[in-house]
Amino acid sequence: MKTLKIEELSKNFGSTEVLRKINLEIDEGNFLVLLGPSGCGKSTLLNIIAGLETINEGNVFIDDYNVSKVEPKDRNIAMVFQSYALYPSMNVRENMIFGLKQAKVSKEKIEKQLEKVSKFLQVDALLERKPSQLSGGQRQRVAIGRALVREPRIFLFDEPLSNLDAKLRVEMRREIKKLHQQLKTTVVYVTHDQTEAMSLGTNIAIMNHGVIQQNDTPENIYNKPSNTFVADFIGSPSMNLIKGNLKQSSDKVSFVANGSNDEIAINGYEFNSSSVNCKPMSSRIHFNTSSPAFFFWCVVFLPANVGPKPHPFTVLAKITVGFPLMFFAAS
Ligand code: ADP
Ligand code: MG
Repeated sequence: MKTLKIEELSKNFGSTEVLRKINLEIDEGNFLVLLGPSGCGKSTLLNIIAGLETINEGNVFIDDYNVSKVEPKDRNIAMVFQSYALYPSMNVRENMIFGLKQAKVSKEKIEKQLEKVSKFLQVDALLERKPSQLSGGQRQRVAIGRALVREPRIFLFDEPLSNLDAKLRVEMRREIKKLHQQLKTTVVYVTHDQTEAMSLGTNIAIMNHGVIQQNDTPENIYNKPSNTFVADFIGSPSMNLIKGNLKQSSDKVSFVANGSNDEIAINGYEFNSSSVNCKPMSSRIHFNTSSPAFFFWCVVFLPANVGPKPHPFTVLAKITVGFPLMFFAAS
């Protein structure tokens, strides 16, 4: 049984197609990050999971139950928004228990939940304050607390850290990770920040133009990107894409960039009809073909302690073959 399953989901706003045939599955307790550039459809997908947005085609299942037409309040989901969306006239206590009161939970249970969650998030000393009397980080904690007290089946986060300064963002990221490790609740987390995605997700689904480009572990996304979009989007510094040709002669492979006559030999390669793996310096450089045949891509990852410029590139500049190649080097 999958905690969340999205099947062949499509969404249009008028004539604009925003999501195209999305298929996603999340196992119990996993942390799925939806990562992609602004406008690619992440929030729309999250809102659809929450039931705040309608679907044109496809279905959403929670625990194998089709919730596509179920009201948001009946989906057992809690959402944390980028804007926090706290009620300004209510204090922290009232904000945190609002959803429970609406759901007519007993007073005893509400108090118990409030005490547990506010201690856990270290906002128990702030219960009488209004949101305007809180720092950005405290507000974010209250917004998370309001979701936590409901003990939802699935947590949805929409860019919850993007309004915080850089230092606080790192702190809160650590806290969200800790929270997930302790509670083991299933999470879907939207961000455009690849560092956030790589450090938080057990799985990352990379989106572009409403299409899932790759849904995989952070490690595979980084080391085995399925296309040039993913390869270019992930990694810091990001890669340059240099088009050229691979040439193979006897046991040598070299790369010739478009507009250049230089044959740059690559050491330590393995070449067959479907893939080229080059390891000139370390195992950080891979060349792979993807179908259709003869379309090659290669990815270069800088070792963390190497500066952004030429070293790996120079080594990379040592390959050869005769097919179109996309050559990615670290910038
Ligand atoms: P993201 O969260 O990845 O930045 P969104 O899901 O918010 O992207 O938006 C995806 C696309 O859908 C954007 O082009 C946006 O302008 C469009 N869009 C979002 N909501 C609406 C709406 N209610 N009406 C029309 N277009 C919308
Ligand atoms: Mg968004």
